[in-house]
Amino acid sequence: MAYEVVVVGGGIGGLTVAALLAARGVGVCLLEKESRAGGCAETFEKSGYTFERGAGLYASWGAGEIHEKIFDELPVAPPETRIVSPSYVVRLPDETEIAVAQSDEEFYESLRRAFPECAASALSFYREIEPVADALFRASVAVPDLRTASKMKRAQVALSEHRVARKIYAAMNERAVERLRKTSARFRRFIDAQLQIFGQVPSDECAYLFAAVALMIPRRGMYSIRGGGSALADSLVESIKKSGGAVRLNSPVLRLSYDSSGSPRGVDLLSGETIEATRAIISNLTVWDTYGKLVGLNRTPYEVRQKLKNLRGWGAYLIFAAMDEQASARLPADHLLVLTNWQEEPERFNPESSLFMFASSTAWDARAPEGERSVTINAFTRAEEWFSFHEDDRAREEMDQAALEAWWNRMHAMMPELGGEIEVIETINPPGFYDETRRKLGMVGGVGQAIENFGMNSISHRTHWPNLFMVGDTVFPGAGIAAVTQSALIVANEITTRAVFSF
Ligand SMILES: Cc1cc2nc3c(=O)[nH]c(=O)nc-3n(C[C@H](O)[C@H](O)[C@H](O)COP(=O)(O)OP(=O)(O)OC[C@H]3O[C@@H](n4cnc5c(N)ncnc54)[C@H](O)[C@@H]3O)c2cc1C
Repeated sequence: MAYEVVVVGGGIGGLTVAALLAARGVGVCLLEKESRAGGCAETFEKSGYTFERGAGLYASWGAGEIHEKIFDELPVAPPETRIVSPSYVVRLPDETEIAVAQSDEEFYESLRRAFPECAASALSFYREIEPVADALFRASVAVPDLRTASKMKRAQVALSEHRVARKIYAAMNERAVERLRKTSARFRRFIDAQLQIFGQVPSDECAYLFAAVALMIPRRGMYSIRGGGSALADSLVESIKKSGGAVRLNSPVLRLSYDSSGSPRGVDLLSGETIEATRAIISNLTVWDTYGKLVGLNRTPYEVRQKLKNLRGWGAYLIFAAMDEQASARLPADHLLVLTNWQEEPERFNPESSLFMFASSTAWDARAPEGERSVTINAFTRAEEWFSFHEDDRAREEMDQAALEAWWNRMHAMMPELGGEIEVIETINPPGFYDETRRKLGMVGGVGQAIENFGMNSISHRTHWPNLFMVGDTVFPGAGIAAVTQSALIVANEITTRAVFSF
């Protein structure tokens, strides 16, 4: 069997690139190992509740943003989205709350109240990042592939953003912490908590330019999707099929197949079938798995192996719970980002036992029986530890139970208003994520946006073979559904325009 393009993996990255290519008239086949597409964004049902595997906060669904751009090309309607207001509330260990709202007035007032010890510096930090983030947002709409765009294209963007371009170039190698020197340790932890959620690293590692964009995303507005990430995945599947593309579920891919000259010519499925790709193969696997599994380490170039050796992501520990509406009514927002202890400086910020995101479904899409909500509590954990020290299932169950008890206690201590009106339904840990997505060590959420992995230093969608591409949250521009969608647009554009490029 042969197609022009074969896509391996039906996460949002694979689905979006397949939908775009099919809509542009390219013969596409998408292969997904599970019985349903969606990957990390897939929702699941249990005991009458539908749960998101993530925080359920989605960026860039506004007018002129990436999702509108994509769905304008597709023969299906986008899922229903609504802005979440405020995007979330950050709760600090001393019970201070900051509503990260879209309105400047509300947000700045919240900052003044929360950080009287450094209000002027805190406000000026946010005022400085705003124009930088706005310019970078506009640039990514004009030139989605900034990472690999020609010098000429980049120069054009710089020219159109001449007011801030110089500031952006000057900040290219700066870490966020360098702009936070005049703020208090409390404010820095407020920033650390958010950067950890969006970029997997705190301010002393995070690239300043990434921080500018990430911290402005919730200020610009985040959305929830009716039906969660699966509704987006289902629309994309429908779109691929409507445009004449093929979606094959329950079809695990084993590896690339090669022609006699050693170039990739298609994929071998676990079933023994080979599917040829006459134009391109697109991997939606993580960069570790694209090379480790599809390409094979013996065919992976030395410099890629070196880069991968030092590249790590976090694991996630998630609790899925059922909450009564009465408890929900007592909360300041549907989404709370909670820091449980300060970790006084010079101690380095470590999210492992100090940070969680409490994400409730919304009133307009409760995904629960009448009078209840479904909740996902999302914490960081070191993925390796779930594999290296606990190799059998029983030991992992014990580790899961210990993690559940620890996080449940922290949650009740920091959110007393929940009372007894919340109940555990299910949990998932890195081995669980591995089973479902086959991502290396169950690492999720992309790679940390430290300077060495951000922007021009990130891994691009290209590989050392001109017909093998990558989409997803471990390549430029990074994690989150909006970024993954952008990575898909970049690859679809490259395949359909076949621009001349350099690696
Ligand atoms: C805890 C958590 C919270 C999050 N919260 C948010 C949020 O609130 N907002 C947001 O925008 N983003 C959020 N994200 C990030 C977002 O969900 C992911 O970045 C995104 O879904 C990743 O998509 P992907 O296409 O890169 O890959 P994946 O979702 O990993 O998809 C890869 C697909 O490939 C398939 N596959 C793997 N191996 C094979 C094989 N050999 N053959 C065939 N198929 C294969 C897998 O089954 C999977 O379907 C969150 C992530 C996590 C983990």
